[in-house]
Amino acid sequence: MKKHIICDSCGESGVIQKHVTRSFGKGDHVVVIDNIPMLVCPQCGENYFTASTLQEIERLRMHKEGLVVQSMVPMISYV
Ligand SMILES: [Zn+2]
Repeated sequence: MKKHIICDSCGESGVIQKHVTRSFGKGDHVVVIDNIPMLVCPQCGENYFTASTLQEIERLRMHKEGLVVQSMVPMISYV
């Protein structure tokens, strides 16, 4: 099911969802999270995470010890 998402920035509908990999934090605390749903507005180019996605990212970062896949940089899968 596809729902229309309205852009927070320009108010147009047609915002699309992509999945991205992002790193958070600095130095020894850097963690890379994979497959994060990100909203992208094709009208104004704005891209952002929803509040619930940001909450989930925070939660994953707090619990990263049990979730990290061994690699050069700690990486967590969002899903
Ligand atoms: Zn927009």
